[in-house]
Amino acid sequence: QRLTAAEAEGDERVVEAALRPRSLDEVIGQSRVRDQLGLVLEAARQRERAPDHVLLSGPPGLGKTTLAMIIASEMSTPLRLTSGPAITHAGDLAAILSGLNEGDVLFVDEIHRMSRPAEEMLYVAMEDFRVDVVIGKGPGATAIPLEIPPFTLVGATTRAGLLPGPLRDRFGFTAHLEFYEPHELDRIVRRSAGLLDVELTDTGSTEIASRSRGTPRIANRLLRRVRDFAQVRADGVVTLDVAHQALDLYEVDQSGLDRLDRAVLDVLCRRFGGGPVGVSTLAVAVGEERETVEEVAEPFLVRSGLLARTPRGRVATRAAWEHLGMAPPQGVTA
Ligand code: ADP
Repeated sequence: QRLTAAEAEGDERVVEAALRPRSLDEVIGQSRVRDQLGLVLEAARQRERAPDHVLLSGPPGLGKTTLAMIIASEMSTPLRLTSGPAITHAGDLAAILSGLNEGDVLFVDEIHRMSRPAEEMLYVAMEDFRVDVVIGKGPGATAIPLEIPPFTLVGATTRAGLLPGPLRDRFGFTAHLEFYEPHELDRIVRRSAGLLDVELTDTGSTEIASRSRGTPRIANRLLRRVRDFAQVRADGVVTLDVAHQALDLYEVDQSGLDRLDRAVLDVLCRRFGGGPVGVSTLAVAVGEERETVEEVAEPFLVRSGLLARTPRGRVATRAAWEHLGMAPPQGVTA
């Protein structure tokens, strides 16, 4: 398991459930999204109607599922959960849609991964609250329109750009979630520690927050691992020193880089003089698949300003050299 993965791993969702904010007031950070969404929900409540369909976009671990659950609970309606990959046939979706009650919130995670026919069925359901159920096959097939009660679709996607235009256009409100600031993550860590009954000092908390890559899921995961360390190797209290030792043991450094991230930077600087070097060569040198380097390590290195992708290959920035404690060679300015 990668401690710094932004996606939920294994049965992590179960552990996470206890830490989820239950209302908009409890959500930390994302103040613009919170204000806008609060307004959408309040207006719908006053009109006694289901709110417009909501699209939540942003990287994994930033709170999309949490917000979907909050929308349902603020509207005092049940939440139905499914995901794009789980809907392989349009029939699967038809079954879900026809089972909805008025005002239900339907959450479709990874909505960009739905099959084409299901997507088309969803357009109609979102706009006209109708499902065309196809009976029979070939020339004799007929579509029977089935009315469904007004509901609210909440779609989540890591890549809003991957959604076909017609689907995107049918959402009345789109919220883009951004990475969290260190002080927001700090509040999240302290809130979670309270819920988990973990004793934590201020500096212990900021230390965990600053290594969490702007992502609440990672902050909560690091907190759980540091708590283990505090319990077994110390007196149970998460102090700065305990957080330091624990995260060093788990190989998550001060900037949130893990072993693979550092290996990539290390090879890039020490073996290839800072680049440019092709990603395949880089992957061989660290002993990983090209996809792993490209999809797992690079995005965060790029976001942290440590690595640049150029047409001629990957290049270490000045910050990368400094991160490794080395002087950048002549000519490295950025
Ligand atoms: P996503 O669906 O975007 O992958 P989740 O909603 O599952 O993310 O959130 C992951 C974890 O992070 C959950 O345990 C949740 O409690 C926590 N979390 C996310 N956003 C916030 C927030 N704004 N405040 C507090 N905790 C949060």
